[in-house]
Amino acid sequence: MGADDHRWQGPAAGALSELEARVTYELDCLSFPEASWVPEVFDTNGQRAGAVLVVGGGQAGLATAFALKREGIHDVTVVDRNPSGREGPWINFARMLTLRTPKYLTGPDYGIPSLTFRAWFECQHGASAWEALQRIPTPMWMDYLLWFRKISGVEVSNGVELADCRGTLSGLVEVKLQSAGTSRSAVFRHVVLANGMDGGGCWYTPPEFTRPLPRSAWAHTSDPIDLEMLRGCRVAVLGAGASAFDAAAAALDHGATVDLYFRRAGLLKVEHRAWLEQAGFLRGFGALDDRQKWAVMHRLLSLGAPAPESAVARVIGHASFSMHAGTGWIETAYRDGRIQITTSAGPREADFAIFGTGARYDLSMRPELASVAPLAARWCDRFTPDETQRADEVGLYPYLGRGFELLERVQGQAPWIKRIHLFNYAATPSVGVSGSSGTGLKTGLQRLVGAIIERLYVDSFDRHLAAMPWPSQSTSPGES
Ligand SMILES: Cc1cc2nc3c(=O)[nH]c(=O)nc-3n(C[C@H](O)[C@H](O)[C@H](O)COP(=O)(O)OP(=O)(O)OC[C@H]3O[C@@H](n4cnc5c(N)ncnc54)[C@H](O)[C@@H]3O)c2cc1C
Repeated sequence: MGADDHRWQGPAAGALSELEARVTYELDCLSFPEASWVPEVFDTNGQRAGAVLVVGGGQAGLATAFALKREGIHDVTVVDRNPSGREGPWINFARMLTLRTPKYLTGPDYGIPSLTFRAWFECQHGASAWEALQRIPTPMWMDYLLWFRKISGVEVSNGVELADCRGTLSGLVEVKLQSAGTSRSAVFRHVVLANGMDGGGCWYTPPEFTRPLPRSAWAHTSDPIDLEMLRGCRVAVLGAGASAFDAAAAALDHGATVDLYFRRAGLLKVEHRAWLEQAGFLRGFGALDDRQKWAVMHRLLSLGAPAPESAVARVIGHASFSMHAGTGWIETAYRDGRIQITTSAGPREADFAIFGTGARYDLSMRPELASVAPLAARWCDRFTPDETQRADEVGLYPYLGRGFELLERVQGQAPWIKRIHLFNYAATPSVGVSGSSGTGLKTGLQRLVGAIIERLYVDSFDRHLAAMPWPSQSTSPGES
């Protein structure tokens, strides 16, 4: 198995059994799962309220459910609208050959070494293969997550979609869950939205460029794309981020000719990932004041996200690839089965267009949050930046509390929304980290789980106090 060898054959079952025995032993040593301590709660209509609903069975959802169980919160329901084994982007629309982040990042393991990707990899391929591994092949990461799901005992209800959530009279959260055309409602004390990179908004395509085109003539990089259909076609890719280059490479691998367009004069070179990966930022960002947080976000946006060198290297020099820097699109049209693109460098043509235009963050764009979005505070409701640091799109991000919880736009209007935790990329301006990156998962998880524990305990404190033994009749405080 050489470095970056992509011919991943899937996990080696035999070798894994030893590791699984070790995991079981270690969890036992850690008295996993902790004894349950969360008392049952019923809503005013007598319906039992689950303790926590986790929306999303990807890395963040699995890790959250496991971590809650470790802390004695067993009443956790995890749903995912995707079929089992197809959670997240990894084998759906992630077209990079390897993860973009370093192999040593941990996260779902919640601090248990034998649950890390490294332990899982090494027990199958040995330490020298680990040393030789540069980055984690993307399908392999998915297999690791499926193994983690199995060994951590997290149950996911697949094919179940969160369709709506709103407050109940008793201040809890009522959700509507849809599956196989039927829907049911349920009540929860906390809802964790571990619903992916776009979970606090949506993947974005510029409507002025897509409106003139038939839907069959374009895709966003987050869409499934029939790459074989592009063989012999001219493909126009808009964007210069990681996903744009990955889509270009995948189209080239399937025999297309690719033009990649972006407005900037050249590729971004400044790599700021290392700055984001230091513990100070990961743990301390949430404690900054709004002006400081905004300064970081404004800088991050100005920096942009450079495409990884490996993604650029995959296409640069390819005979059928052309990169058009400083070439913005002005408008599109569709004539005689072809896409006509008016660019700042003149007219261009293509058979298919791929938009590597990322996502926008605004809760009102999320159908399942339609009832919540008007009630939730956004950055523009709480902070006005200096004119020099204006960034209107950051203003639309939700303004979250330190436990990733939504906050009320108008005090007293919807206290229940504090029971909804946004554990995805939209949390970045408020908390810095989230489940939506391997980098932030580890520290974000501790912050999220800590906040849910505190709230569940405080909410049911009277019950805990009532359950606390009383001193026998004869003794009074301090008397031994
Ligand atoms: C193309 C791509 C490449 C990336 N590469 C890297 C990388 O190399 N390294 C890194 O650290 N990070 C990377 N990231 C960022 C991040 O780590 C991933 O997005 C990761 O998948 C986030 O995990 P998650 O569990 O938060 O979300 P996901 O893995 O996306 O899982 C979210 C799940 O929520 C489900 N869901 C969404 N809405 C609902 C709903 N309403 N009801 C029910 N289920 C719902 C979805 O079906 C999905 O399965 C990448 C992201 C993308 C998009």
